[in-house]
Amino acid sequence: MIQLYNTLTKKRERLPKLKKGKPLRLFVCGPTVYDYSHIGHARVYLTFDMLARYLRYKKQPVFYLQNITDIDDKIIDRAHQSKQKPAQVAKQFEKAYYEDMKALDVSSVTKYAPASQFIKEIIVQIKKLIKKKFAYKISSGVYFRVKKFKNYGQLSKQDLNELRPGYRTEPDPEKEDVFDFGLWKLKKQKWEPSWSSPWGTGRPGWHIEDTAISEKFFGPQYDIHGAAADLKFPHHEAEIAQQESASGKKPFVKLWVHTGFLTVEGKKMSKSLGNFITIRSYLKKFSPESLRFIALSHYYRSPIDYQEDLARQAERALMNLRNFLVRLELMQEEGKSGLNVTGLTKSAEKNFEAALADDFNTPDAISALFFLINQMEPMVWDLRKDEAQFVKRFLMKKFAIFGIQMEKFLAIPPKIQELLKQRELYRTSKQFVQSDALRKQMDALGYLIEDTRKGPLLYSKRLTTND
Ligand SMILES: [Zn+2]
Repeated sequence: MIQLYNTLTKKRERLPKLKKGKPLRLFVCGPTVYDYSHIGHARVYLTFDMLARYLRYKKQPVFYLQNITDIDDKIIDRAHQSKQKPAQVAKQFEKAYYEDMKALDVSSVTKYAPASQFIKEIIVQIKKLIKKKFAYKISSGVYFRVKKFKNYGQLSKQDLNELRPGYRTEPDPEKEDVFDFGLWKLKKQKWEPSWSSPWGTGRPGWHIEDTAISEKFFGPQYDIHGAAADLKFPHHEAEIAQQESASGKKPFVKLWVHTGFLTVEGKKMSKSLGNFITIRSYLKKFSPESLRFIALSHYYRSPIDYQEDLARQAERALMNLRNFLVRLELMQEEGKSGLNVTGLTKSAEKNFEAALADDFNTPDAISALFFLINQMEPMVWDLRKDEAQFVKRFLMKKFAIFGIQMEKFLAIPPKIQELLKQRELYRTSKQFVQSDALRKQMDALGYLIEDTRKGPLLYSKRLTTND
């Protein structure tokens, strides 16, 4: 079974052993809904979507929980600037997030949990921390006492004593330590969203939202926590400190899985640089499958430096795959390729599974599939129908594991099918002028015809056929 790299132990580890049929509990940090999600977010959510799909394909049920940070300073700031209510801003971008995920076919999440629906659970957890003296109240709110939790810094491998002098956070002279983070922030301005609590009207801090939600659905300990690598410190350190202190149980999470960064042309995405690419703007130019393919063709822990060429390459790779599948469809009964089709697919399957078992190495896994295609390519016209169908099913099934449904690209609109039929009639009756006119008409509609010895082969010039 699959091994994954655990950021906490810096080792590849087997997935926790679960009783048969018991779901693996996977939590992934969801978005802070104050703006549209960008392609860096998409990388994270596509990665964990593909991981959850793969585990389910391997017959391991998964309960995939994702929080939605709908209470946060960034939301409040944006709402104040745009003269809206924070709840309106949060609702608008929460909705936009679900739309984006739907467009990308991220469908593996079992439960989305917006923090604003779990205030009761958050208060219970803070109460526990205060009772155990892991938290204290000052005039601005309730804070976590970091010095009382010995292992703070264990995940991000940081020595707090070295970090302390230069560490900047919101200044508050009442705080015992610069690293102490807010669990409950008391209301200061009238536009801030607030809930009543034993410590006064206010709102939860970011970190406690996640552990209150994961405890509610998973209990104090669970299997995998995933997120982008930049959330390790302080967010995930804080999560560990909160949950292990509140429950007294260790470890909070068995496996910490972090995805690599995504930069755009070598730079961190930012609005001021003008290189901020939202999922929506990407999808105006390219197919959702191409973004998924970009994630798939990079090792999830490696950085991705995005540029449009990467999207174009991904579209081209999918198009080549599509065209290979279309060729396989043309094969008739006869044929004598001399290829050991069963042996070649078996070996592709073996390499595919071995790559995924080794820390979900998706680029190596799909290389095994493209290697199979390359082996078949020179002999493809000599394949027997049953061999061709076998290879086609094999490849489509493998890409479907990751959420790339090639059926979508194989469908030819009825209008094009009709033109193809007509043109074939003209061509076989040697009416070349008419047949040529139809070829041009189809070209204008985005389809190229190649006359092969197995019949006319139709290529789409674009990846998607829905336009
Ligand atoms: Zn989080």
